[in-house]
Amino acid sequence: MHDFELSMLPWNLVFGAGAVGTLPTRMDHMSLCRALVLSTPEQATQAKRIASLLGNRAAGSFSEARMHVPVDVANAARERARALECDCCVSIGGGSTTGLGKALALAPGIPLIAIPTTYAGSEMTNIWGITDGGRKHTGRDLKVLPSLTIYDAELTLDLPLSMTGVSAMNALAQAAVNAYDPRPSPLVRTMALEAISTLSKALPDVMSQPHDIDAREQLLYGASLAAAALGTGVTSLHHKLCHTLGGTFNTPHAETHTIMLPYTTAYNAPAVPQLMAPVATALGSDSAAAGIFDLTSGLGLPTSLHHIGIGTGDLERVASIVLEQPPQNPAAVTKTAIMALLEQALAGTRPAG
Ligand code: NAD
Repeated sequence: MHDFELSMLPWNLVFGAGAVGTLPTRMDHMSLCRALVLSTPEQATQAKRIASLLGNRAAGSFSEARMHVPVDVANAARERARALECDCCVSIGGGSTTGLGKALALAPGIPLIAIPTTYAGSEMTNIWGITDGGRKHTGRDLKVLPSLTIYDAELTLDLPLSMTGVSAMNALAQAAVNAYDPRPSPLVRTMALEAISTLSKALPDVMSQPHDIDAREQLLYGASLAAAALGTGVTSLHHKLCHTLGGTFNTPHAETHTIMLPYTTAYNAPAVPQLMAPVATALGSDSAAAGIFDLTSGLGLPTSLHHIGIGTGDLERVASIVLEQPPQNPAAVTKTAIMALLEQALAGTRPAG
Protein backbone atom coordinates (compact mmCIF):
# COMPACT_ATOMS: atom_id res chain seq x y z
CA MET A 1 0.00 0.00 0.00
CA HIS A 2 1.29 3.48 -0.82
CA ASP A 3 1.48 6.30 1.75
CA PHE A 4 -1.55 8.54 1.86
CA GLU A 5 -3.19 11.48 3.59
CA LEU A 6 -6.93 11.71 4.15
CA SER A 7 -9.15 14.47 5.48
CA MET A 8 -12.82 13.48 5.64
CA LEU A 9 -15.68 15.97 5.50
CA PRO A 10 -18.12 16.29 8.42
CA TRP A 11 -21.24 14.95 6.73
CA ASN A 12 -24.52 14.81 8.62
CA LEU A 13 -26.86 12.56 6.60
CA VAL A 14 -30.29 11.08 7.04
CA PHE A 15 -31.48 8.39 4.61
CA GLY A 16 -35.04 7.13 4.45
CA ALA A 17 -38.28 7.15 2.50
CA GLY A 18 -40.46 9.79 4.18
CA ALA A 19 -37.49 11.17 6.16
CA VAL A 20 -38.30 14.71 5.04
CA GLY A 21 -41.16 14.59 7.59
CA THR A 22 -38.57 14.78 10.37
CA LEU A 23 -37.21 18.12 9.12
CA PRO A 24 -39.12 20.36 11.59
CA THR A 25 -37.88 18.40 14.62
CA ARG A 26 -34.36 18.33 13.27
CA MET A 27 -34.41 22.10 12.74
CA ASP A 28 -35.55 22.51 16.36
CA HIS A 29 -32.65 20.33 17.56
CA MET A 30 -30.28 22.51 15.54
CA SER A 31 -31.84 25.64 17.11
CA LEU A 32 -32.80 26.94 13.67
CA CYS A 33 -36.15 28.67 13.33
CA ARG A 34 -36.29 30.95 10.24
CA ALA A 35 -35.60 29.08 7.00
CA LEU A 36 -35.54 30.40 3.46
CA VAL A 37 -36.81 27.54 1.27
CA LEU A 38 -34.98 27.39 -2.07
CA SER A 39 -36.00 25.71 -5.34
CA THR A 40 -36.08 26.18 -9.10
CA PRO A 41 -39.29 27.55 -10.64
CA GLU A 42 -40.04 23.97 -11.82
CA GLN A 43 -39.98 22.68 -8.23
CA ALA A 44 -41.86 25.59 -6.62
CA THR A 45 -44.72 23.23 -5.69
CA GLN A 46 -42.34 20.88 -3.84
CA ALA A 47 -40.85 23.94 -2.10
CA LYS A 48 -44.34 25.05 -1.03
CA ARG A 49 -44.91 21.62 0.52
CA ILE A 50 -41.66 21.94 2.49
CA ALA A 51 -42.65 25.44 3.62
CA SER A 52 -46.02 24.24 4.84
CA LEU A 53 -44.37 21.27 6.61
CA LEU A 54 -42.12 23.79 8.39
CA GLY A 55 -45.01 26.06 9.38
CA ASN A 56 -43.69 29.18 11.11
CA ARG A 57 -40.12 27.84 10.84
CA ALA A 58 -40.30 28.88 7.15
CA ALA A 59 -39.62 32.61 6.94
CA GLY A 60 -40.17 32.62 3.18
CA SER A 61 -39.23 30.98 -0.09
CA PHE A 62 -37.14 31.77 -3.15
CA SER A 63 -37.92 29.70 -6.23
CA GLU A 64 -35.60 31.24 -8.81
CA ALA A 65 -32.62 28.86 -8.61
CA ARG A 66 -30.94 28.34 -11.98
CA MET A 67 -28.17 26.17 -13.42
CA HIS A 68 -24.62 27.25 -12.47
CA VAL A 69 -25.77 29.83 -9.87
CA PRO A 70 -25.77 33.15 -11.79
CA VAL A 71 -24.47 35.88 -9.48
CA ASP A 72 -27.62 38.01 -9.86
CA VAL A 73 -29.74 35.06 -8.69
CA ALA A 74 -27.40 34.48 -5.73
CA ASN A 75 -27.55 38.16 -4.79
CA ALA A 76 -31.36 38.26 -5.03
CA ALA A 77 -31.59 35.20 -2.73
CA ARG A 78 -29.09 36.79 -0.31
CA GLU A 79 -31.18 39.97 -0.26
CA ARG A 80 -34.31 37.94 0.52
CA ALA A 81 -32.54 36.01 3.29
CA ARG A 82 -31.31 39.23 4.88
CA ALA A 83 -34.67 41.00 4.57
CA LEU A 84 -36.46 38.04 6.19
CA GLU A 85 -33.75 37.66 8.86
CA CYS A 86 -33.32 33.99 7.98
CA ASP A 87 -31.05 31.87 10.16
CA CYS A 88 -30.74 29.02 7.61
CA CYS A 89 -31.78 27.93 4.14
CA VAL A 90 -33.39 24.67 3.02
CA SER A 91 -32.72 23.65 -0.59
CA ILE A 92 -35.03 21.19 -2.31
CA GLY A 93 -33.81 20.17 -5.75
CA GLY A 94 -30.81 19.17 -7.79
CA GLY A 95 -27.29 20.56 -7.99
CA SER A 96 -28.52 23.97 -9.15
CA THR A 97 -30.61 24.54 -6.04
CA THR A 98 -28.03 23.05 -3.68
CA GLY A 99 -25.53 25.35 -5.39
CA LEU A 100 -27.68 28.38 -4.58
CA GLY A 101 -27.86 27.22 -0.95
CA LYS A 102 -24.06 27.00 -0.94
CA ALA A 103 -23.87 30.62 -2.15
CA LEU A 104 -25.98 31.63 0.87
CA ALA A 105 -23.76 29.54 3.14
CA LEU A 106 -20.80 31.56 1.84
CA ALA A 107 -22.57 34.91 2.33
CA PRO A 108 -24.39 35.92 4.48
CA GLY A 109 -23.06 32.67 5.94
CA ILE A 110 -26.25 30.91 7.06
CA PRO A 111 -26.26 27.11 7.42
CA LEU A 112 -27.66 25.02 4.57
CA ILE A 113 -30.01 22.06 4.93
CA ALA A 114 -30.03 20.13 1.65
CA ILE A 115 -32.80 17.90 0.35
CA PRO A 116 -31.40 16.49 -2.93
CA THR A 117 -33.82 15.34 -5.62
CA THR A 118 -31.33 14.39 -8.35
CA TYR A 119 -28.12 12.35 -8.29
CA ALA A 120 -25.70 15.28 -8.84
CA GLY A 121 -24.28 14.94 -5.33
CA SER A 122 -23.35 18.57 -4.70
CA GLU A 123 -24.59 18.19 -1.10
CA MET A 124 -21.65 15.87 -0.30
CA THR A 125 -18.92 18.25 -1.44
CA ASN A 126 -17.40 21.46 -0.15
CA ILE A 127 -17.20 22.75 -3.73
CA TRP A 128 -19.12 25.93 -4.58
CA GLY A 129 -19.61 27.66 -7.93
CA ILE A 130 -21.01 31.07 -8.92
CA THR A 131 -21.26 32.35 -12.50
CA ASP A 132 -20.39 35.98 -13.11
CA GLY A 133 -19.76 37.67 -16.46
CA GLY A 134 -20.05 34.36 -18.34
CA ARG A 135 -17.39 32.65 -16.19
CA LYS A 136 -18.02 30.10 -13.47
CA HIS A 137 -15.88 30.77 -10.41
CA THR A 138 -15.42 27.75 -8.17
CA GLY A 139 -13.72 27.03 -4.90
CA ARG A 140 -13.65 24.71 -1.93
CA ASP A 141 -14.84 25.95 1.47
CA LEU A 142 -16.06 23.91 4.42
CA LYS A 143 -18.68 26.60 5.10
CA VAL A 144 -20.72 25.44 2.08
CA LEU A 145 -21.03 21.82 3.23
CA PRO A 146 -24.67 21.33 4.31
CA SER A 147 -25.19 21.14 8.08
CA LEU A 148 -27.76 18.44 7.36
CA THR A 149 -28.71 16.46 4.25
CA ILE A 150 -31.96 14.52 4.04
CA TYR A 151 -32.06 11.82 1.35
CA ASP A 152 -35.70 10.96 0.85
CA ALA A 153 -36.20 8.81 -2.24
CA GLU A 154 -39.93 9.58 -2.29
CA LEU A 155 -38.99 13.05 -3.54
CA THR A 156 -37.13 11.56 -6.51
CA LEU A 157 -39.96 9.39 -7.84
CA ASP A 158 -41.08 12.07 -10.29
CA LEU A 159 -37.64 12.94 -11.62
CA PRO A 160 -38.16 12.47 -15.39
CA LEU A 161 -36.34 9.45 -16.83
CA SER A 162 -34.44 11.63 -19.30
CA MET A 163 -32.92 13.46 -16.30
CA THR A 164 -32.63 10.37 -14.08
CA GLY A 165 -30.31 8.54 -16.48
CA VAL A 166 -27.87 11.35 -17.15
CA SER A 167 -27.88 12.53 -13.54
CA ALA A 168 -26.92 9.03 -12.35
CA MET A 169 -24.17 8.91 -15.01
CA ASN A 170 -22.91 12.26 -13.64
CA ALA A 171 -22.61 10.48 -10.29
CA LEU A 172 -20.88 7.50 -11.93
CA ALA A 173 -18.31 9.89 -13.38
CA GLN A 174 -17.49 11.25 -9.90
CA ALA A 175 -16.90 7.69 -8.72
CA ALA A 176 -15.00 6.44 -11.78
CA VAL A 177 -12.39 9.21 -11.80
CA ASN A 178 -11.69 8.59 -8.12
CA ALA A 179 -11.55 4.81 -8.51
CA TYR A 180 -8.89 4.77 -11.24
CA ASP A 181 -6.77 7.77 -10.17
CA PRO A 182 -3.72 6.81 -8.06
CA ARG A 183 -3.89 10.00 -5.95
CA PRO A 184 -6.90 9.40 -3.62
CA SER A 185 -6.53 7.32 -0.47
CA PRO A 186 -7.58 3.63 -0.46
CA LEU A 187 -10.64 4.62 1.58
CA VAL A 188 -11.84 7.03 -1.13
CA ARG A 189 -11.23 4.36 -3.76
CA THR A 190 -13.31 1.89 -1.73
CA MET A 191 -16.21 4.35 -1.61
CA ALA A 192 -15.83 5.02 -5.33
CA LEU A 193 -15.90 1.32 -6.27
CA GLU A 194 -18.93 0.68 -4.05
CA ALA A 195 -20.63 3.65 -5.73
CA ILE A 196 -19.90 2.28 -9.21
CA SER A 197 -21.29 -1.12 -8.30
CA THR A 198 -24.42 0.34 -6.65
CA LEU A 199 -25.16 2.88 -9.40
CA SER A 200 -24.63 0.48 -12.29
CA LYS A 201 -26.99 -2.09 -10.73
CA ALA A 202 -29.69 0.37 -9.59
CA LEU A 203 -29.83 2.58 -12.68
CA PRO A 204 -31.29 -0.03 -15.09
CA ASP A 205 -33.81 -1.01 -12.37
CA VAL A 206 -34.95 2.60 -11.96
CA MET A 207 -35.11 3.18 -15.73
CA SER A 208 -37.42 0.17 -16.12
CA GLN A 209 -39.42 0.84 -12.91
CA PRO A 210 -39.19 4.58 -12.14
CA HIS A 211 -41.54 4.32 -9.15
CA ASP A 212 -39.69 1.44 -7.46
CA ILE A 213 -38.79 3.14 -4.18
CA ASP A 214 -36.11 0.56 -3.26
CA ALA A 215 -34.31 1.03 -6.58
CA ARG A 216 -34.58 4.83 -6.23
CA GLU A 217 -33.09 4.56 -2.70
CA GLN A 218 -30.20 2.48 -4.01
CA LEU A 219 -29.54 5.05 -6.72
CA LEU A 220 -29.52 7.89 -4.16
CA TYR A 221 -27.18 5.90 -1.92
CA GLY A 222 -24.81 5.24 -4.84
CA ALA A 223 -24.91 8.91 -5.82
CA SER A 224 -24.17 9.97 -2.27
CA LEU A 225 -21.16 7.64 -2.10
CA ALA A 226 -19.90 8.82 -5.49
CA ALA A 227 -20.07 12.44 -4.38
CA ALA A 228 -18.39 11.52 -1.09
CA ALA A 229 -15.51 10.19 -3.18
CA LEU A 230 -15.45 13.41 -5.21
CA GLY A 231 -15.67 15.58 -2.07
CA THR A 232 -12.67 13.87 -0.47
CA GLY A 233 -10.90 12.88 -3.68
CA VAL A 234 -9.80 14.47 -6.93
CA THR A 235 -10.91 15.72 -10.32
CA SER A 236 -8.84 15.24 -13.47
CA LEU A 237 -9.11 15.47 -17.27
CA HIS A 238 -12.71 14.22 -17.30
CA HIS A 239 -14.02 17.11 -15.20
CA LYS A 240 -11.78 19.64 -16.93
CA LEU A 241 -13.16 18.64 -20.34
CA CYS A 242 -16.78 18.69 -19.11
CA HIS A 243 -16.38 22.08 -17.46
CA THR A 244 -14.69 23.45 -20.57
CA LEU A 245 -17.53 22.21 -22.77
CA GLY A 246 -20.14 23.56 -20.33
CA GLY A 247 -18.39 26.89 -19.81
CA THR A 248 -17.62 27.52 -23.49
CA PHE A 249 -20.68 26.09 -25.24
CA ASN A 250 -23.23 26.03 -22.40
CA THR A 251 -23.75 22.28 -22.84
CA PRO A 252 -26.08 20.66 -20.27
CA HIS A 253 -24.14 19.50 -17.21
CA ALA A 254 -25.29 15.91 -16.69
CA GLU A 255 -25.51 15.04 -20.42
CA THR A 256 -21.96 16.29 -20.96
CA HIS A 257 -20.63 13.98 -18.21
CA THR A 258 -22.66 11.08 -19.60
CA ILE A 259 -21.25 11.48 -23.11
CA MET A 260 -17.64 12.08 -22.11
CA LEU A 261 -17.21 9.36 -19.46
CA PRO A 262 -16.58 6.30 -21.69
CA TYR A 263 -13.96 8.22 -23.70
CA THR A 264 -12.11 9.81 -20.77
CA THR A 265 -12.04 6.36 -19.15
CA ALA A 266 -10.60 4.79 -22.32
CA TYR A 267 -8.04 7.61 -22.48
CA ASN A 268 -6.77 6.75 -19.00
CA ALA A 269 -7.04 2.96 -19.14
CA PRO A 270 -3.55 2.21 -20.57
CA ALA A 271 -1.90 4.41 -17.88
CA VAL A 272 -3.45 2.65 -14.87
CA PRO A 273 -4.44 -0.89 -15.87
CA GLN A 274 -4.23 -2.23 -12.30
CA LEU A 275 -6.65 0.44 -11.02
CA MET A 276 -8.96 0.17 -14.03
CA ALA A 277 -9.51 -3.59 -13.54
CA PRO A 278 -11.60 -3.20 -10.33
CA VAL A 279 -13.67 -0.49 -12.07
CA ALA A 280 -14.53 -2.99 -14.82
CA THR A 281 -15.36 -5.62 -12.19
CA ALA A 282 -17.63 -3.19 -10.31
CA LEU A 283 -19.44 -2.57 -13.60
CA GLY A 284 -19.75 -6.32 -14.25
CA SER A 285 -17.71 -5.94 -17.44
CA ASP A 286 -14.32 -6.93 -18.86
CA SER A 287 -13.51 -3.32 -19.69
CA ALA A 288 -14.23 -0.16 -17.71
CA ALA A 289 -14.63 2.12 -20.74
CA ALA A 290 -16.68 -0.31 -22.82
CA GLY A 291 -18.71 -1.28 -19.74
CA ILE A 292 -19.66 2.37 -19.14
CA PHE A 293 -20.50 2.80 -22.84
CA ASP A 294 -22.68 -0.34 -22.81
CA LEU A 295 -24.54 0.89 -19.72
CA THR A 296 -25.13 4.30 -21.31
CA SER A 297 -26.13 3.13 -24.76
CA GLY A 298 -28.20 0.21 -23.38
CA LEU A 299 -30.37 2.73 -21.54
CA GLY A 300 -30.75 4.92 -24.63
CA LEU A 301 -28.70 7.77 -23.13
CA PRO A 302 -26.65 10.05 -25.40
CA THR A 303 -23.18 8.86 -26.47
CA SER A 304 -22.06 11.53 -28.93
CA LEU A 305 -21.12 15.19 -28.53
CA HIS A 306 -23.33 15.89 -31.57
CA HIS A 307 -26.29 15.31 -29.26
CA ILE A 308 -25.41 18.46 -27.27
CA GLY A 309 -24.64 20.63 -30.29
CA ILE A 310 -20.86 20.20 -30.57
CA GLY A 311 -19.35 19.91 -34.06
CA THR A 312 -15.94 19.10 -35.53
CA GLY A 313 -15.06 22.80 -35.70
CA ASP A 314 -15.39 23.16 -31.91
CA LEU A 315 -12.90 20.45 -30.86
CA GLU A 316 -9.69 22.43 -31.38
CA ARG A 317 -11.00 25.23 -29.14
CA VAL A 318 -11.87 22.79 -26.36
CA ALA A 319 -8.43 21.16 -26.51
CA SER A 320 -6.69 24.56 -26.46
CA ILE A 321 -8.63 25.77 -23.42
CA VAL A 322 -7.89 22.53 -21.53
CA LEU A 323 -4.20 22.91 -22.31
CA GLU A 324 -4.06 26.49 -20.98
CA GLN A 325 -3.97 24.89 -17.51
CA PRO A 326 -3.61 21.14 -17.99
CA PRO A 327 -5.16 19.14 -15.14
CA GLN A 328 -3.37 16.45 -13.15
CA ASN A 329 -4.44 13.18 -14.74
CA PRO A 330 -3.33 9.53 -14.75
CA ALA A 331 -2.47 9.59 -18.49
CA ALA A 332 -0.34 12.38 -19.97
CA VAL A 333 -2.40 15.30 -21.29
CA THR A 334 -1.27 16.22 -24.81
CA LYS A 335 -3.03 18.08 -27.61
CA THR A 336 -2.86 15.15 -30.03
CA ALA A 337 -4.31 12.75 -27.46
CA ILE A 338 -7.09 15.16 -26.40
CA MET A 339 -8.06 15.77 -30.03
CA ALA A 340 -8.28 12.00 -30.58
CA LEU A 341 -10.43 11.64 -27.44
CA LEU A 342 -12.78 14.45 -28.57
CA GLU A 343 -13.07 12.97 -32.07
CA GLN A 344 -14.11 9.62 -30.53
CA ALA A 345 -16.64 11.40 -28.32
CA LEU A 346 -18.02 13.14 -31.40
CA ALA A 347 -18.29 9.85 -33.31
CA GLY A 348 -20.03 8.31 -30.30
CA THR A 349 -18.83 4.79 -31.04
CA ARG A 350 -17.99 2.09 -28.48
CA PRO A 351 -14.44 2.56 -27.15
CA ALA A 352 -12.10 -0.37 -27.66
CA GLY A 353 -11.96 -2.69 -24.64
P1 NAD B 1 -30.56 20.78 -11.82
O1 NAD B 1 -30.43 20.99 -10.37
O2 NAD B 1 -30.37 21.98 -12.71
O3 NAD B 1 -31.98 20.12 -12.12
C1 NAD B 1 -32.44 19.98 -13.47
C2 NAD B 1 -33.94 20.19 -13.55
O4 NAD B 1 -34.60 19.07 -12.92
C3 NAD B 1 -34.41 21.44 -12.79
O5 NAD B 1 -35.45 22.04 -13.50
C4 NAD B 1 -34.93 20.86 -11.48
O6 NAD B 1 -35.89 21.69 -10.85
C5 NAD B 1 -35.53 19.56 -11.97
N1 NAD B 1 -35.68 18.54 -10.92
C6 NAD B 1 -34.76 18.19 -10.00
N2 NAD B 1 -35.23 17.21 -9.22
C7 NAD B 1 -36.47 16.92 -9.66
C8 NAD B 1 -37.45 15.97 -9.26
N3 NAD B 1 -37.22 15.08 -8.29
N4 NAD B 1 -38.63 15.95 -9.92
C9 NAD B 1 -38.84 16.80 -10.96
N5 NAD B 1 -37.94 17.71 -11.40
C10 NAD B 1 -36.78 17.78 -10.74
O7 NAD B 1 -29.56 19.66 -12.37
P2 NAD B 1 -28.42 18.80 -11.64
O8 NAD B 1 -27.79 17.99 -12.70
O9 NAD B 1 -28.93 18.13 -10.43
O10 NAD B 1 -27.37 19.89 -11.14
C11 NAD B 1 -26.49 20.52 -12.05
C12 NAD B 1 -25.74 21.64 -11.35
O11 NAD B 1 -25.12 21.13 -10.17
C13 NAD B 1 -24.61 22.21 -12.21
O12 NAD B 1 -24.58 23.61 -12.05
C14 NAD B 1 -23.36 21.58 -11.62
O13 NAD B 1 -22.21 22.36 -11.83
C15 NAD B 1 -23.74 21.48 -10.16
N6 NAD B 1 -23.00 20.43 -9.43
C16 NAD B 1 -22.19 20.83 -8.42
C17 NAD B 1 -21.48 19.88 -7.69
C18 NAD B 1 -20.61 20.33 -6.56
O14 NAD B 1 -19.99 19.51 -5.91
N7 NAD B 1 -20.54 21.61 -6.29
C19 NAD B 1 -21.58 18.50 -7.99
C20 NAD B 1 -22.44 18.12 -9.04
C21 NAD B 1 -23.16 19.10 -9.74
